[in-house]
Amino acid sequence: MRPDRLNPLFVAADSLKGVGPGLARPLEKLGLTRVKDFAYHLPDRFVERRAVANLDEASVGENIVVALTPAEYRSSAGRGPFRVLATDSIGNVCSITYFGRNTAWAKKQLPLGEPRWIAGRLDQYGQMLQIVHPDHVAEAGATALGQLVEPVYPLSEGLTQGRLAGLVEQALAGIPALPEWIEPGLLDKLQWPAWRDALALAHKGPHAAARDRLAYDELLANSLALMLVRQSNRKQSGTPLQGDGSRRARLNLPFPLTGAQQRAIAEIEGDLAQSSPMLRLLQGDVGSGKTVVALSAMLIAVEAGAQAALLAPTEILARQHHETLTRLAAGTGVEIALLTGRDKGRAREAILMGLLDGSIDMVVGTHAIFQDTVTYRNLAMVVIDEQHRFGVGQRLMLAQKGRRAPHCLAMTATPIPRTLTLAQYGEMDVSKLDEMPPGRQPIDTRVVAVERQADVIAAIGRHLESGQQAYWVCPMVREQENEDLAAAEARHAELQARFGDAVVLVHGQLRPELKDAAMERFARGEARLLVATTVIEVGVDVPNATLMVIEQAERFGLAQLHQLRGRVGRGSGKSTCLLLRGPMLSETARQRLALMRETQDGFRLAEEDLALRGGGELLGTRQSGDTPFRVASLEQIQKLLPLAHDDARLLMDRDGGLTGERGAAARLLLYLFERDWGVQLLRGG
Ligand code: ADP
Ligand code: MG
Repeated sequence: MRPDRLNPLFVAADSLKGVGPGLARPLEKLGLTRVKDFAYHLPDRFVERRAVANLDEASVGENIVVALTPAEYRSSAGRGPFRVLATDSIGNVCSITYFGRNTAWAKKQLPLGEPRWIAGRLDQYGQMLQIVHPDHVAEAGATALGQLVEPVYPLSEGLTQGRLAGLVEQALAGIPALPEWIEPGLLDKLQWPAWRDALALAHKGPHAAARDRLAYDELLANSLALMLVRQSNRKQSGTPLQGDGSRRARLNLPFPLTGAQQRAIAEIEGDLAQSSPMLRLLQGDVGSGKTVVALSAMLIAVEAGAQAALLAPTEILARQHHETLTRLAAGTGVEIALLTGRDKGRAREAILMGLLDGSIDMVVGTHAIFQDTVTYRNLAMVVIDEQHRFGVGQRLMLAQKGRRAPHCLAMTATPIPRTLTLAQYGEMDVSKLDEMPPGRQPIDTRVVAVERQADVIAAIGRHLESGQQAYWVCPMVREQENEDLAAAEARHAELQARFGDAVVLVHGQLRPELKDAAMERFARGEARLLVATTVIEVGVDVPNATLMVIEQAERFGLAQLHQLRGRVGRGSGKSTCLLLRGPMLSETARQRLALMRETQDGFRLAEEDLALRGGGELLGTRQSGDTPFRVASLEQIQKLLPLAHDDARLLMDRDGGLTGERGAAARLLLYLFERDWGVQLLRGG
């Protein structure tokens, strides 16, 4: 249970004054559903203004405060703006411009002949200087306006800066002081403010120490939670599994294992023989052959008389894994079932029975395999594929099903840099597949200007005619962006008009049945061209698909481009990846695309990606899907994570039960950052 003193932070957003049903949606879009979310909704940057005596002293593009006297109102015809022409102290004319605003309101703010202090950004429109929608208009108080440093928040449609700033202020006012969880020595040394002060300061100005402290809190919470998982795992007893090799001997692999695969399997075998449950991460680039390693691990469990489960992040992947495992394990006599949320009725009952009586040895599925209604006779080994899609800790908790803790193997193809590995996976043991199966041809990667799209489409035509398949990837950078979706649908329609029914569309908002049906048609080779948003990113394996076109490639991150490209080059044939780029390319985007052409090494790309994104930003960039953090920027992760990790280690060594004074404060921290699964493990452990 969450400690009471944190309750004010978790109160719903509509407890703030002025938040009604109308604001609910725009706020939700920003993830602002509880009071604490507002406190942590940190500004992207701050506007600072300079007070000037007249417009000669200002430059275009600058944020200024200046005294202007309105001289003339000018309405334009139709939907044009309303302009107030005003003069400065030396006769320069400037238009104060309002679009779609109530003119009466503008006139009242700016009466003719009366000087006003105007704060805003000076722009140029044709020959005329102008300030569009000034931030402030005041009769007096030039100094106050000139000193104003105002936060600029990430917004969503339906919200204004002023509105959001007001809500943040309200939220901050209701926040309790909390006991300190950071090592006092560290706090002193870095001169960091206390938690509540840090929150207030971070909204007031570009206060690096405050921002760092808040990021550090998040990193510390994460490290602690992962260590708690590890600690509880060590304390639990699992079932030592020793296989006799009988099933593995009957595996009918069409290829010899690579050295890296053999090493990983040996490491896993060593872990499984122990009574403390395995907690191992298998890292291997796309195509490095993780599936066979997972299968071998599961077979060891079966040889030892236990059951094994494989958890996949999506239905599509669960199906694909089920097919692959069934094919590879055909000679082993192992019974493998597929269980997803969509299985209903008698078929589902039969599977549940089989898991309960032990006649099913292995199950592959989505999170449905861990639902309360599913009982295993003897589940002792769990493989979690594409771990980064899940919250690590939560999944590990799920894996605690059964009387004894199962051995756990997490797999990821997301090549993340070393610092982030620590952040995501804490102190898990790591096996790396750093050697590709032989015979892979490098993927021919080219950057193509979007003007040549017609040529690209013609090339697809030739490619399909030769009997091969292709992907066309449309950007869907953030989920639920309707414009992106519309663009993908339009592209699909266009390609279908050209190539007929062999073209299918898959995107994240498609009903699961339809998505699977389309994917299956593509996997069977009936569909030849798959138009998709990034849903194909993970795991999909169609060796005959040897061409990929990525539209607006500049909008993707390096890691994502790499994952996407990994869908081709999976067979022995030559594969091509065409990165279509738009006309406007930032320097970083240009470097990203160049790197894609240069290398196929996922670990290298991950490091470069971090370097490209991490540097040079004042406040850092908030992270989206690719780190488990909301507050800490990449730069802060690199700088502060090692510190947080050591600090967490120290605290765990001194007070592993989190019962002392700092331990109790640390518990609050875990709740604050919703890593309370760590605390729950303490109680159970
Ligand atoms: P990952 O899951 O790591 O992306 P997969 O396990 O799907 O990779 O393997 C990719 C492809 O490589 C599959 O078609 C698989 O059959 C093949 N493969 C795996 N191991 C080997 C090997 N040692 N030699 C040749 N091919 C292999
Ligand atoms: Mg895989």
